Amino acid sequence: MQKSSWKYSYNPSLFTSALNTPSWERVEGTQYLEVTHGCAHNSCRFCTYYKRTPFKPSTDKEIERSLKYLSLVDAKTPIKRIFLQGADPFVLSYDRLMEIREKLFSTLPNLESIGGYGRMTDICNKSVDQLKSLHEAGFTDFFFGVESADDALLKFVNKGYDADTLWEQGMKMHESGMPWRAVIMLGLGGHGWGESHPLKTAEFFSATQPSVIGIVSLTLIYDQYTHMFPPLYEDMRNGTFVEAGELERYEELKCFIEHLDCETVVAGQHSTMPYWIAGRMPRDKEKVLEKIDWVLENGDEQHMRSFRDMGVQDT
Ligand code: SF4
Repeated sequence: MQKSSWKYSYNPSLFTSALNTPSWERVEGTQYLEVTHGCAHNSCRFCTYYKRTPFKPSTDKEIERSLKYLSLVDAKTPIKRIFLQGADPFVLSYDRLMEIREKLFSTLPNLESIGGYGRMTDICNKSVDQLKSLHEAGFTDFFFGVESADDALLKFVNKGYDADTLWEQGMKMHESGMPWRAVIMLGLGGHGWGESHPLKTAEFFSATQPSVIGIVSLTLIYDQYTHMFPPLYEDMRNGTFVEAGELERYEELKCFIEHLDCETVVAGQHSTMPYWIAGRMPRDKEKVLEKIDWVLENGDEQHMRSFRDMGVQDT
């Protein structure tokens, strides 16, 4: 008999948007609970994912209904981790997260940890002591879409916070000791943006030390869920935004890796990355740089572009 996996136990009717997780959170033993609908910001100029889902916290009734389902799943396949759904469930207050935590741990006897996506501004409503306490209570490895620490670039893509806020909240996470993960987005400023993006982002991550840094590459496409194009795509069409070249993005990555100075894992294994780049830092730094150099010497712009387009269509 085929062993059950997350694909068979995930129930889309309990969610207001498509399941949204990094690949490593789609494994047996991990399940999902929608505690917020949509995105509290919903205005990044490269993103359409939650455009048709207004932000609101889930009600107790909605959460109870999902918990009943999760309890049934747990009886067949023990649930060890919950990856909260919504663009940024970490926006909920400390008290609300703790309430949800109590419900989860009392319903799921095998539960070990709770994660989800977060925006860096979600940290603003929590003190360092509260972050410590959340970590002790089982919250860990939230995944934050940092994208860049370049103030001008954050403004350009309307990320909803500036570099000062990013630094302040990032340092709180680091001080709290709660392991966290983050993303850098290559090509975010478009063609010719320059080194400020990789340099400033490497400086930020070196100081704040996320345990994993995901690497993705800006890809402006039609969103099959919302039936929309992102605003930056429209800029591209009218010629006010020129996409970064494929090799230009790997030049950014090289600069980022060269200046990254902390213990972490870099994970550029994403459908937007034509050549996957991964390694433990600083141990694998030279190997990772060698691979990027290989890409820069041998990569073909058109081939990489079509590979990236195909990869995105498949996700
Ligand atoms: S990128 Fe993240 S924070 Fe920005 S609008 Fe999309 S879901 Fe919200």
